Amino acid sequence: MDAPDIKTPLPGPKAKAIIDRDKRFVSPSYTRDYPFVIARGEGAIVEDVDGNRFLDCAAGIAVNSTGVSHPDVVKAICDQAGKFIHMSGTDFYYEPQVRLAEELASIAPIDGPVRTFFGNSGTEATEASIKLARYHTKRQGIIAFLGSFHGRSMGSLSLTASKAIQRRGFGPLLAGVFHARFPEPYRFNGSADECAAECLSYIRDQLFVQLVAPDEVAAIVVEPIQGEGGYIVPPPAFLQGLRELASEHGIVLVVDEVQSGMGRTGKMFASEHFGLRADVVNIAKGIASGLPLGVTCARADVMSWPAGAHASTFGGNPVSCAAASATIKLLKDGLVANAAAVGAHLMAGLRELQRKHSLIGDVRGLGLMIGVELVRNRETKERAIDERNALVQSMFRRGVLVLGAGKNAIRIAPPLVLTRAQADTFLRVMDEALSE
Ligand code: PLP
Repeated sequence: MDAPDIKTPLPGPKAKAIIDRDKRFVSPSYTRDYPFVIARGEGAIVEDVDGNRFLDCAAGIAVNSTGVSHPDVVKAICDQAGKFIHMSGTDFYYEPQVRLAEELASIAPIDGPVRTFFGNSGTEATEASIKLARYHTKRQGIIAFLGSFHGRSMGSLSLTASKAIQRRGFGPLLAGVFHARFPEPYRFNGSADECAAECLSYIRDQLFVQLVAPDEVAAIVVEPIQGEGGYIVPPPAFLQGLRELASEHGIVLVVDEVQSGMGRTGKMFASEHFGLRADVVNIAKGIASGLPLGVTCARADVMSWPAGAHASTFGGNPVSCAAASATIKLLKDGLVANAAAVGAHLMAGLRELQRKHSLIGDVRGLGLMIGVELVRNRETKERAIDERNALVQSMFRRGVLVLGAGKNAIRIAPPLVLTRAQADTFLRVMDEALSE
């Protein structure tokens, strides 16, 4: 089943009824771009409550790595749920959590022995990494990047610098956080290496000189590819430069692989594309194919906090751990390779669309983590914000789910089971929508 199939005007009557109830009883803080109400799904195809079928290139915000309800994941969940659903790894032991920690130790982009802290979400992974870095270094400062997204709880939100609305009204946030520029090669007037050098120089020559001494900095927290910020791929020299700065000054380098990890980029972790080795890696989203799980993996000597320092009742829930182990097996057995192959095919098709449609300013990404930035004018690179929003709507009406990222980009983040035929469907629909 590759093609979308839209049978009713959107939203259909059943979807509309549910959305009306949602409007009355659910928090108004969520941002729904279009009225999609899921009933079921299989692979990269999702069906709404009115029987309309969509090609899913959003994957529940880059979460459903193995597709919707992959049978192996469902089996792992059911098997574990039939034995015990919860015990709390904070106070008791269970094998699924240990097994997953062992598996993560063998794949995390960290040198040497690795230990894992278990939470429930990306933001909890960020919180754990902030606390761990402060505890380990006995320092307070944190460097994060403009455009970044690390979560919305108070510590994570203090690092997040993606959209002002996410911070508005919630201050004061955590003290000691400094934001530096993240390199955006497409918008930089010069080479990628010059772009990296300028961003690194700001930290070294200004931030460390004028704002905070490096020996007061506990952590540098960075996404190897900025996700919510617009699927921005930095020059490798930037990430390598951060590694050097961190090592030189005894700063913990925290790499946020929450969105870019678990095979999405065609390697298990985006860090691998850049030869980047972290001290701490945060992972969530795709790790358990949709069950809630967030983990903080750290070099064993960095994860030096004592019993009682940090924990979470539900963190590392056995059912989530079982889903994660099944997910990792599927990723290793072919889905990472599929993300690389189908991602390259999609990228080539998008570059063709770029030649045809002047609205496409930039196509960037790795594997199945692809951003398309829309501009009104290729010379001035004026951001096509309304056009981006209209494109997301138009693709929805044509049966393809995508989300925006940054001010004027769309992100393509399908399940890693996406087939070449489905990628072609995506390209056809995007071509039609852009021609509209
Ligand atoms: N870090 C990154 C890079 C993310 O993209 C996100 C969510 O989009 C988070 C952290 C926060 O994850 P969660 O929404 O699970 O708290």
